[in-house]
Amino acid sequence: MKPDLLIARAGAMTDELALAPADSVRGLVPNRLKPVATAPTVCGYCSTGCSLDAHLGPDGSALNLSPSLNYPVNQGMACPKGWEALAPLDAPDRCTTPLLRQADGSFKPISWEEAIQVFVDRFRAIHTKHGGQALSFLSTGQIVTEEMALLGVLGKFGMGMVDVDSNTRQCMATAHVAYKQSFGYDAPPFTYSDFEESDVLIFVGANPAIAHPIMWQRVMQNRRKPKVVVVDPRKTETALSSDLHLAILPKSDLVLLYGLARRLIEKGALAREFVEAHTTGFDLFAHFVSDYKIHEVSTLTGVPMEAIEELVDLIASGKRVSFWWTMGVNQGHQSTRTAQALINLALMTGNIGRPGTGANSITGQCNAMGSRIYGNATSLVGGYDFGNAAHREHVARILGISTAAIPERPSRAYDEILDLIAAGEIKGLWVVATDPAHSWIDQERIGSLREHLDFLVVQDMYATTATARMADLILPAAGWGEKDGVFINSERRLGLTQKVRRAPGQALSDFAIFRLVGEAWGCGDWLRRWSSPQAAFRIMQELSRGRPSDISGIGSYQELARAGGIQWPWPEAMRGKEPESERRLFEDGRFFTPDGRARFLFDPPQPMPERPNCDYPYLLNTGRGSSAQWHTGSRTNKSEVLVKLAPRELFVEVNPRDASDLGLAQNDRVQIRSRRGRLVARVQITATIQHGQLFLPMHWKEVNQLTFPAFDPHSRQPSFKACAVAIDLLRD
Ligand code: SF4
Repeated sequence: MKPDLLIARAGAMTDELALAPADSVRGLVPNRLKPVATAPTVCGYCSTGCSLDAHLGPDGSALNLSPSLNYPVNQGMACPKGWEALAPLDAPDRCTTPLLRQADGSFKPISWEEAIQVFVDRFRAIHTKHGGQALSFLSTGQIVTEEMALLGVLGKFGMGMVDVDSNTRQCMATAHVAYKQSFGYDAPPFTYSDFEESDVLIFVGANPAIAHPIMWQRVMQNRRKPKVVVVDPRKTETALSSDLHLAILPKSDLVLLYGLARRLIEKGALAREFVEAHTTGFDLFAHFVSDYKIHEVSTLTGVPMEAIEELVDLIASGKRVSFWWTMGVNQGHQSTRTAQALINLALMTGNIGRPGTGANSITGQCNAMGSRIYGNATSLVGGYDFGNAAHREHVARILGISTAAIPERPSRAYDEILDLIAAGEIKGLWVVATDPAHSWIDQERIGSLREHLDFLVVQDMYATTATARMADLILPAAGWGEKDGVFINSERRLGLTQKVRRAPGQALSDFAIFRLVGEAWGCGDWLRRWSSPQAAFRIMQELSRGRPSDISGIGSYQELARAGGIQWPWPEAMRGKEPESERRLFEDGRFFTPDGRARFLFDPPQPMPERPNCDYPYLLNTGRGSSAQWHTGSRTNKSEVLVKLAPRELFVEVNPRDASDLGLAQNDRVQIRSRRGRLVARVQITATIQHGQLFLPMHWKEVNQLTFPAFDPHSRQPSFKACAVAIDLLRD
């Protein structure tokens, strides 16, 4: 069994415990320090939202962790990242004091008073000269929702910023827009028990076996003998475990999904009553897909006709069919329409609102869903619309601010903010808990933008990230486990994450830092109500009242912890009642559009923006390397255990035929070149990658030197999955 697939279950038999990273298990109950209490806290890596029990020593500080046995999400399981979640807190490169860049380029430790004064003075000078639109922040899907909400309202309504964004743009912007357009609200319909209750699970551009290992365990717990289908250019770990793998050509998914729709219509595999009662636009959609003849679809996608027919039959005959997608769909040049093509399939076959069904986007980061509702970038804080005057007035009234402080349009997107920096229109940038100099597509551009900024502030746990190294001012932030708040997971579950360690040195929670900045900026009056994460949560509840994501019925943080998290909606009318542990949306067939009907949305497929040619003959795909690695590795690289479980060097997957043509042997050093940059990697020859394609894991900074900056026109999410490259053997 590959280490990636190892999942440890707390409290299980000894041989199962042996599957956990050895150092973690060894540390469960040290002899010297016996835990005296336990505090459940939701994991701060991925969107699965597992609960971990922090075992506390006499001083209230976590000694170690084990997965919570009775939490409905993970049921006593955790992946290696969860078991090792405390390790990054102890890293030697934690930033423990504010740091200000000096004239000679070095950083000097300064006090918080000086740091906040410098920050506010420099941002105020830009504001005075160029207006609030010359300031911006780039935030994250990794901080708690209360912090996201506070940063969003402070930045936009307090400091006058107009265009702000977060790294959620890189993972979930597509799902946000696709759901909003199709369902009338960003509303993932499913609950995790749908993994266990499906007859047919279709994963498109998703590799849960390593990217969401606990969700994959839920699939493994399905007792209905389900058929698992994977649509992915690579034979991923999930594809290896599937019943049917459709190895499509990269970015041909939209063609395939339209072809499936046509064949299902031809076979009469439609839920006509549902379509007529609960949707709009089906007739136009049916006419549109009638052009997608199966033999042409087969040619364009590289999938044999028999495999397409097999999938059509599975969907047509399945009583409970669920469609799941993640970054392979979300990160594409037509990602919104691709996500909606999956939504269309679920709608036309009536696979929504029932157990084991749904068009289900698996979220990336632990709190991307919190960012989508409360980040105040695309949607007005609370899931409202900036363009709606009544919404602006309502939000202003709840927040106790002037309606005029609320912009009348959503923020421009991440890539557009970078354009504004390059054009000299944004001059002050505040980067919070993210590392764009590693993670953003076409990375070279980020480095070149630095010279256009008058002042760059980075707020992070570490002063060693690529972006922090470019900063003028670094603010030391507490990490996961060092503060309280709420995450919202993939299935809309609000879960409590708790402070189980004290942050090192002078590091402060992001919430406390935002309050200091707000006070110094002059927003103290209206920020007084945002006195603590709990107080912020109450404001969020008030904002949510009457919205689809209503959480006004949640009594307290303690209730969240006691209940095993609570999925939205949980309105005031439910206050005090015992929530069911799993709830899904749309059981009544009513959607959040004005007419209550879901919409069929579609567009013709467009060619891939950068296709291989004779100079760059290979197509590069990027993605997660292993379940021990998280994004830029700023945290997972701090755990000795996780480092041992992950590849040591950057590797590139090469098909055996290509390796033979190029004269490459296993472990050879090669250079991979695109029009934008180059890197060196070790060759990994494997038939899991198709001929003519290469794969690089995204966790190495160099990888985004190669990627091509294409963006979906609706969500502005970058397409990390397809660009043209060349490969050359390097002689040692
Ligand atoms: Fe669960 Fe994700 Fe944390 Fe792993 S990283 S323990 S799957 S929440």
